[in-house]
Amino acid sequence: MLALFLSTITFFIRGKAETIFNLECRLKKKYRIMIKSKGKFIIQKNSDLRVSSYLTKRGSYFNMKSRSKKSEFSINGKRLWDDLMILGEIGRGEDGGVTRISFDQEDVQARKHLLHLLEEADLQPYMDEAGNIFGTIPGKNPDLPEVLIGSHIDTVKSGGRFDGAMGVLMGVEVLRTMKEKGIQPDRTVKVVSLTDEEGARFDYAFVGSTAISGAISPDQLRKDLASAKDKNGISYLEVMKNASIEGGYFTRVNPDSLEKAQFRKDQVKAYIEVHIEQGKVLENKDLGVGVVSGISGGDWADITIIGEAGHAGTIGMAERKDALTAAGECLIAIEKIAAESNGSVATVGKLDVKPGSSNVISGRVDFTLDVRDISDNRRQETVKSIFNSIREVTKNRGLHCEINPMQSVPSVMGSPMVNEAIQESLHELNCPIHHLPSGAAHDAMVMGNLTKIGMIFVRSKNGISHHPDEWSSFEDVELGCEVLFRTTLKLL
Ligand SMILES: [Zn+2]
Repeated sequence: MLALFLSTITFFIRGKAETIFNLECRLKKKYRIMIKSKGKFIIQKNSDLRVSSYLTKRGSYFNMKSRSKKSEFSINGKRLWDDLMILGEIGRGEDGGVTRISFDQEDVQARKHLLHLLEEADLQPYMDEAGNIFGTIPGKNPDLPEVLIGSHIDTVKSGGRFDGAMGVLMGVEVLRTMKEKGIQPDRTVKVVSLTDEEGARFDYAFVGSTAISGAISPDQLRKDLASAKDKNGISYLEVMKNASIEGGYFTRVNPDSLEKAQFRKDQVKAYIEVHIEQGKVLENKDLGVGVVSGISGGDWADITIIGEAGHAGTIGMAERKDALTAAGECLIAIEKIAAESNGSVATVGKLDVKPGSSNVISGRVDFTLDVRDISDNRRQETVKSIFNSIREVTKNRGLHCEINPMQSVPSVMGSPMVNEAIQESLHELNCPIHHLPSGAAHDAMVMGNLTKIGMIFVRSKNGISHHPDEWSSFEDVELGCEVLFRTTLKLL
C-alpha cells in the first residue's frame, strides 16, 4: 500500500454508502479502491481506468468535502461534481483532453449516458428530430410558456470536461433537486442538451439551437447540413440521417423532419445557460460566478492585399510593392484601432502569403479579420476604421486591396427579467454581483432568436478552455448550480 500514491481525483460517491477512487502504483498499475461505510475497503485492479494529470487537482476534492458540509445549498454539489467527472471520462484521451464530436462514437456514448441519468431521475427524457436531448418536469399548467435550461455535451478535439457539459449537468441537477423537494412548478421546465455547439467536425456549429429556435428555416438548415462536409467528404446531413440506426431514443433523429424540432415563440418564457467563463475576468476579481450582460456580436471579413512579386536580390527597396510588409502595417493598425476603441477586440488569425518563397518579394497576402464587441455601434465603428486604414495603407504604398465582409452577427443581451432573477439569487447567497460580457459565442446567442435569454458564468482557472487543462473548482461549480436553481425557481 505504501507504494501507492494518489494520482487522480476521479472520485465517485455512490449515495452515502461507499466512496470509490482510483490509485496508480509506481509500476503504472491502476487500481480502483472502494471504501465502504464501515471502514472496510476493497481494492480492484482496474485496467480500464485512464489515469492522467489530476494529481494537482486533488486539493479541490478535499475543499469540496469541507465546503459541502457547511453548505446550506439546495442542490447536491457532490452529486453534480461526480456527474461531471464521470461524463468527462467519456472520450477522454491520453493527454487528458476530452473529444466528443457530434454523433461520433464517444458523443453517442455520452448521449446514452445522459439519457440514462434523466431516466434515473424520472425526468421523462426524449430526443428530438435534431438530436437535442430533453429532460422534463411538466408544469401544473401546460399552456404556460416553458423555461429551458441548456448547453451542450459535444466538445472540440481534445477539449475540457467543463465547457458545455457543466451547463447541461447543472440543468439535470436543478430538475433532480426540484423532484426530490417535491416542487411542482406552474409551468413546464426542461433541461436540454443541444446538438453540436462546437462545429468541430463539419465547421458548422449551433445545430441544435438553430433547429429549436428557428434562427434559420428548416429548409435552409437542411441545405446547410447537406453542404457542410467533413475532411472525408461526408455530409452532416448523412451523419444525422444515420443517427437513428442507434435505435431507442435515437430513432426520432431525422433531418427531414426538422420542422418538428422548432419551438413556437409563445411556447417558451426563457432560456438560461450556465457556462465556464473561458476568460480571466472573474478570476482577476476573485469571484466564483458572474452575470453575463450579453454575448458579443461579431464581424468577419476576408482581406486581400495585392502587390508585385519580384526577385529578393534584384529589386531595390524603393521600387518594391511588397504585399507582406503592407499587410504588416495593416495588422499593427488593426491592433491599435481595436485597443483605442475601448471595447472592441480584433484578431487576424490566418494569413496566407504568396508566392511564399524565401527569395521572392510577396505579391499577394490574404488574411482574415475577426472583430467582436458587445456594443453593435462601437463594433461597426471599429470595423469601418479598420477598413479605412487598410485602404489608406495600401494606397500610400501604391498597392491594391480587396475587402470582403463575410458575416455580421449582432450582439444578444441578457434579458432584464432573467438577469434580475440571477442577481436576486446571488444576493440571497451573499455573493457580489458582477456583470461581464461574453466574448465567445454560445447556444444562448442563437436561442435569443426564440426567447429571452440569460447566462451565468463560472470562473475558469487561468481562463483556459478548449484544452485538457480547462478547470473550474468544485466550490465555483456548486455555487453556479445553486444560483441556477434559485434563478430557475424565480422564473417558474
Ligand atoms: Zn461551450
